[in-house]
Amino acid sequence: MFLLANVIVDVEVLFAPGWPHHRVWHWHSFLVGGIVGGACGAVLYLAKPVRLLFERIMRLLRIRYRPCLVGMVLGGMAGAWMHVFVDSFYHFDVQPFWPKTGNPLYRFVRTGAVRITNERIEIICIAFFFLTVILYAAAVRSFLKHKHTDAEG
Ligand SMILES: [Zn+2]
Repeated sequence: MFLLANVIVDVEVLFAPGWPHHRVWHWHSFLVGGIVGGACGAVLYLAKPVRLLFERIMRLLRIRYRPCLVGMVLGGMAGAWMHVFVDSFYHFDVQPFWPKTGNPLYRFVRTGAVRITNERIEIICIAFFFLTVILYAAAVRSFLKHKHTDAEG
């Protein structure tokens, strides 16, 4: 759900008529993005065929996963927030604290002592990708280890 919510937030950008395209429905804000992510988690949990599909996909990916409503709502919110957080540093037109306008996070990394460029943000994201690969490997290992006990219980 966390990953899916990360993707869902950018649906807003697809419907943007032009620049700035991160303010159409304010999904790129902690407030609206969190509500959208959480609501998606609830809807996808309550839609039983979708939930069963989720379980099947996770099994195919060799990840131990038992969906629950609270987990999916929180996962959706956290995913959306993560997206808004990273995008805030990358795109100046994101308004993370909407209804307050402006992007203090972008200003924070572009000025003063920090000065993070988009290239550096991309490098950080790539580093996190490799961390995720390691986490995924650990999840698969746990899946294989518990395969027997999970099937019994
Ligand atoms: Zn985005």
